[in-house]
Amino acid sequence: MANSLFRQSFLIDSLYSDSAPLSTEYVTEQGLCLKLHLPGVLEIIPPHMDESTKHVLVSCGIHGKDAGPVEMVNRIVTDVESGFQKIEEHCLFVIANLDAIKQNKQFIDENLERLFDDKPREPSTELVIADNLKVLIKSFWEETPVESRWHLDLHSTLYSSRYSTFVISPKVRHPVRSKALIDFIELAHINAIVLANAPSGSFSWYTADCYSARSATFELGKASRIGESDLNSFAIFDMALRDLISREKSEHLSKKSTIYRVSRTIVRMKEDFDFLFPEDIENFTAFKHGEVFGHDGDKPLMAKNDGESVLFPNRHVEIGEPAAYMLCPVVARYEGDQLVYD
Ligand SMILES: [Zn+2]
Repeated sequence: MANSLFRQSFLIDSLYSDSAPLSTEYVTEQGLCLKLHLPGVLEIIPPHMDESTKHVLVSCGIHGKDAGPVEMVNRIVTDVESGFQKIEEHCLFVIANLDAIKQNKQFIDENLERLFDDKPREPSTELVIADNLKVLIKSFWEETPVESRWHLDLHSTLYSSRYSTFVISPKVRHPVRSKALIDFIELAHINAIVLANAPSGSFSWYTADCYSARSATFELGKASRIGESDLNSFAIFDMALRDLISREKSEHLSKKSTIYRVSRTIVRMKEDFDFLFPEDIENFTAFKHGEVFGHDGDKPLMAKNDGESVLFPNRHVEIGEPAAYMLCPVVARYEGDQLVYD
């Protein structure tokens, strides 16, 4: 019997999957069953599961430059295989866009992060990935209690941020902003939480909308290439994730995140469109009330509130596409189990 599922590691074997894995299933000495469904898709089944078991989807590498979280996930899997990392919850680890990671490009044909709605689309490399993931997730969460489903979708940002870590909580009809998820975010010392105000085609929006999962998009450090990532910038997230999947009580204290809501989305309407700030402006840069920060045709773009901040600005988007999200800080509270703001 093989003494490992991988020749080198989950990541390297997945990237170069022509060197086929030794086997697609492997049971560790601790009794964990590791099942490789596809290159980049690994399910870990603990020996005992019951109604208290969480079913945790940890995805990364949606974009080819999200290398930091990919390397972190790979280390966790290596530690699980060697017996160093305990696992008590049912986990699905996904490294999504292997070709883009290999080529160190955000995507091959189109942005995978926008393909999780049901709009009809032309075939593309990324559409195949999105469709495969939808099928895998359906069977992973089949007949599991709604409140046991977690999805942490891990990314890195292309540009600098005032916060080195932040999450985006999707807006859906279901109660997915549970205290357990926010507690995890604060245990992971995530600096800021952005509460989305509209549906999107993102991966975490999809799992929240279709499966009522406790889902969020995590932005961890800056985009990099495999082997060059600064994993220290989100080391506490790594610890909190290991504690979550091993059902261990964290030994460190949690830290409050600053909470923002998306106040509006700036959609490019005209050919003549630009921002006054530089391309590499930091995410969460705040403006003064009335401050003009760009124009769309004849219309000036100005801050509507004091402290209104910008997230993911991109002046090069097609007409009709979102060019930036504007954020306002909010004071949030719990209503029952759910994070809300007034
Ligand atoms: Zn990304």
